[in-house]
Amino acid sequence: MSRYTGPSCKKCQKLSQKMFLKGTKCFTNCLVDRQKAVKEKRFTSGPRNKMSDYGKHLREKQIARLTAQIGETQFRRFFTKATKDKGQTGEALLRFLEVRLDNIVRRMGFAVSLKAARQLVNHGHIKVNGRCVDIASCLLKPGDEVSIDPKTLDTVLVKQGLEHAEKTAQRPSFISWNAATKSGKLVRWPDRAESSISVDEQLIVEYYSK
Ligand code: ZN
Repeated sequence: MSRYTGPSCKKCQKLSQKMFLKGTKCFTNCLVDRQKAVKEKRFTSGPRNKMSDYGKHLREKQIARLTAQIGETQFRRFFTKATKDKGQTGEALLRFLEVRLDNIVRRMGFAVSLKAARQLVNHGHIKVNGRCVDIASCLLKPGDEVSIDPKTLDTVLVKQGLEHAEKTAQRPSFISWNAATKSGKLVRWPDRAESSISVDEQLIVEYYSK
């Protein structure tokens, strides 16, 4: 997969939506805010470039894919898996994206951004049910327990992440966190409303069904 190394918020700007690719930068210094300010100044003109129907569908797909920070091939694989799910395809897709190991590591607070979480996984610092798993795209299921190598637990970045999680109390309720052992458990599948990706998933389904 090719890796994009340019400014993260350029992507937010392109799709006019904050995607929090750097964790916290979008709260304070995202190009989307600047873009909005400029648009408000131009109050006299109407919508400048109306988006085509195809463009709208493509945009939702891109927002989901870029927020999850995965390539098109992998995203498509997730979509195909979602079409085989008994429930609604769009919801299943968002659920699968949510329970990727890197995302769960982030939501447990081991890292503030997906990028940092993925690095922890790729470098072999994360254990699932006591076993080292270094595949970020690995999908978890209810009952799975995630912990971190004790040595890594002492690093500044992980400490910062956990402190941030405590302060903001941002852990979703599909995760049960054990503060004593610094480990978390996925207790159930995440609901649609708990997804980290804010899109109209129906447009994504239609995008791939055309
Ligand atoms: Zn941004």
